[in-house]
Amino acid sequence: MWKRIVIAGGGTAGWMTAALMAKTLGRAGFDVCLIESPTIGTVGVGEATIPGFVHFNRLLGIDEKDFLKKVKATFKLGINFVDWNRAGSEYIHGFSGLGDHGQGLPFYHYWLRWQKNHPQANIEDHFLASTCARKKKFCHPDPSISSLFSGAGYAYHIDAGLYARYLQEYATSRGITHIEADITDIRLNEITGHIESLRLDDTRVIEGDFFIDCTGFRSLLLGGALGVPFISWQKWLKCDRAQVVATAVTDDNFVPYTRAKAQIAGWQWRIPLQHRVGNGLVYSSAYMDDKQAQSLLMSQIDSQPLAQPRMLKFNAGMRARFWEKNCVAVGLSSGFLEPLESTSIHMIQKTITRLSLLFPNAETNAVLAKQFNEEAAAEMEKIRDFVILHYHLNNRRNEPFWRDCQNMELPDSLQHKLDLYQKTGYVHHEHNDVFTEGSWLSVLVGQGSLPQHTMQMINTMSDTQLDNYMNNVRQKIAELSDKMPLHLDYLQTILRS
Ligand SMILES: Cc1cc2nc3c(=O)[nH]c(=O)nc-3n(C[C@H](O)[C@H](O)[C@H](O)COP(=O)(O)OP(=O)(O)OC[C@H]3O[C@@H](n4cnc5c(N)ncnc54)[C@H](O)[C@@H]3O)c2cc1C
Repeated sequence: MWKRIVIAGGGTAGWMTAALMAKTLGRAGFDVCLIESPTIGTVGVGEATIPGFVHFNRLLGIDEKDFLKKVKATFKLGINFVDWNRAGSEYIHGFSGLGDHGQGLPFYHYWLRWQKNHPQANIEDHFLASTCARKKKFCHPDPSISSLFSGAGYAYHIDAGLYARYLQEYATSRGITHIEADITDIRLNEITGHIESLRLDDTRVIEGDFFIDCTGFRSLLLGGALGVPFISWQKWLKCDRAQVVATAVTDDNFVPYTRAKAQIAGWQWRIPLQHRVGNGLVYSSAYMDDKQAQSLLMSQIDSQPLAQPRMLKFNAGMRARFWEKNCVAVGLSSGFLEPLESTSIHMIQKTITRLSLLFPNAETNAVLAKQFNEEAAAEMEKIRDFVILHYHLNNRRNEPFWRDCQNMELPDSLQHKLDLYQKTGYVHHEHNDVFTEGSWLSVLVGQGSLPQHTMQMINTMSDTQLDNYMNNVRQKIAELSDKMPLHLDYLQTILRS
């Protein structure tokens, strides 16, 4: 049995892994240690999440009120995309399902047919989460009040540094050993090529059976010692840098959604927390230099800066394999997609829950690694396609960056999905896809893409029936959202209790 597990790195990935290991393996006689450098910092951004994150915390048994207080979190219902289609346009990609599921086919088919007679219709009015986000409303979804809540989800904006410390306390109090030292060398078995031990700068040698690489962009174990190559996606995702700065919270920017505003050669995020607002400009260094980017960010923030801006460099892509020999990479060491749809922490969660399920020993390692690698790559590529979609479907004509995004050749998988939708109105979706049909439709319609045809089956409903159906859903959403408390009031009530 492989019982000695070594986690290298103590950023969000390292501590989420340690916490889940403490929960799932802790009592089964495993010996888990986490090595964290006291000198090499974490990325420390990573503040916006998607609904799966709420389930991860629940799986750990974390009390939400305690979490909200200690991590200075706010609720998030979606992302407001500003100026992506063209200057002045905007839409919200909300976390609830679209409409209801009362008529047999997914609601979006009915909406697509209905909008042909109502070209001014706003799809957002048929999403509970988007409508609530727009009104700055929030309360926990309660399906016993309305079936519209059954597909409703929410997420958080978090302080990533506080979250890592929160999980550190969780994991170490449940038996995970915490070592603060720099890894200076990685020793491989000469015959099998497996990792045997990590040498630390204080001369200690940490041996293990299974190693989890959470060393961030350095990818010391998987990319470094084991030499697994990096597959770059930069031809599709051109942004490779971010300037980030925290600013003050105001009544205006304290909203239950992330704002993602398109800029001349990239886009800018705004993420409200209880104690500060995270801001960042993601840009392509081929189209904009660092100085320009920094002054653009500072000219576009809408409240008082709380620190000097800092720069981060990255490349979009993933390692050819997440799992090699006796090592799995989690977090930035396995790959990176820019934070446009807040998916990195989600990928951490998916990777470690998959690992818990497929945890190996010497006999099962190779076959589990193969399965794991196929699942992880497929998942990452689907998210990649969704992110590329935002860039490709733009009508910003005057900026070279955006024109190049319009004209770029797409991955085959995305081109097929887009062709299918644009010709037939069908959004292909698989059971465990992170982004549902509603998510794809929000972005497709939000960025001006409507299909040539709609599905035949929905023609069984007359125009009048369809009008009544749509009006009813819209009205129910309007009523429900009107009754909800403001996000600020709701959160304050929780924090005071
Ligand atoms: C600009 C930007 C914005 C982002 N925004 C979001 C977002 O909104 N939502 C989201 O989900 N994700 C976001 N992310 C991604 C998110 O930040 C990461 O997924 C998350 O922080 C996990 O990082 P990590 O733990 O893999 O790496 P890191 O945070 O880099 O941690 C690496 C760890 O390895 C340790 N280490 C490195 N070398 C050694 C060594 N030699 N010895 C010992 N220890 C070592 C370090 O000390 C550190 O503890 C963003 C990323 C970037 C770049």
